Amino acid sequence: MSLPETFPPGVYTPAAGTYVCDCASAHQWHIDLAGHLFPPFPAGCTGHTWQTAVNGSPAAEPTARDS
Ligand SMILES: [Zn+2]
Repeated sequence: MSLPETFPPGVYTPAAGTYVCDCASAHQWHIDLAGHLFPPFPAGCTGHTWQTAVNGSPAAEPTARDS
């Protein structure tokens, strides 16, 4: 239900986490503390906003099974 929030470069990060730009290359930026500034986009990036990365990596599937 909750869409990812978007943030322009230069505003403060609301929380630690991984953020991804909205260009086709999906550049990622990780911050481990809240209260930092979102960085400018890297060279060649055509994005306009950073957004919180959706936690949906298929490789991160927990497979803790006791068999
Ligand atoms: Zn980008």
